[in-house]
Amino acid sequence: MTDCIFCKIIEGDIPSEKVYEDELVYAFNDIEPAAPHHVLIIPKKHISSLNDLNEENSKVISHIFIIASKIAKKLGVDKDGYRVVSNCGEAGGQTVPHVHFHLIAGRNLQWPPG
Ligand code: AMP
Ligand code: ZN
Repeated sequence: MTDCIFCKIIEGDIPSEKVYEDELVYAFNDIEPAAPHHVLIIPKKHISSLNDLNEENSKVISHIFIIASKIAKKLGVDKDGYRVVSNCGEAGGQTVPHVHFHLIAGRNLQWPPG
């Protein structure tokens, strides 16, 4: 999608700190980290939000969770623990309309979130 900043990151038109990449997903460090480790994992195919998932396009989501656990192991946070979260819509705190999963770790996270 031409106007989407995450699509531009995937294309390399906007720079990013790559953490992981395969044919389905791209993962990179969040520009405003909320914790010592804050990685965004996104599908390469543009999907605007969780609201746009369906039977045809949602297989990538289980893949994203597998990759999240691999990244957590690589970062060495799998034993201590981490959070994977996706914000949806304005009230959910979504600011970039390309579905993404935050992998946040490296400190004790509060629950419930603010
Ligand atoms: P959300 O608010 O859930 O939509 O998450 C969007 C995330 O994208 C925020 O945590 C931003 O800090 C992050 N972000 C926005 N632009 C960039 C960028 N160019 N590179 C890395 N992360 C970004
Ligand atoms: Zn996009």
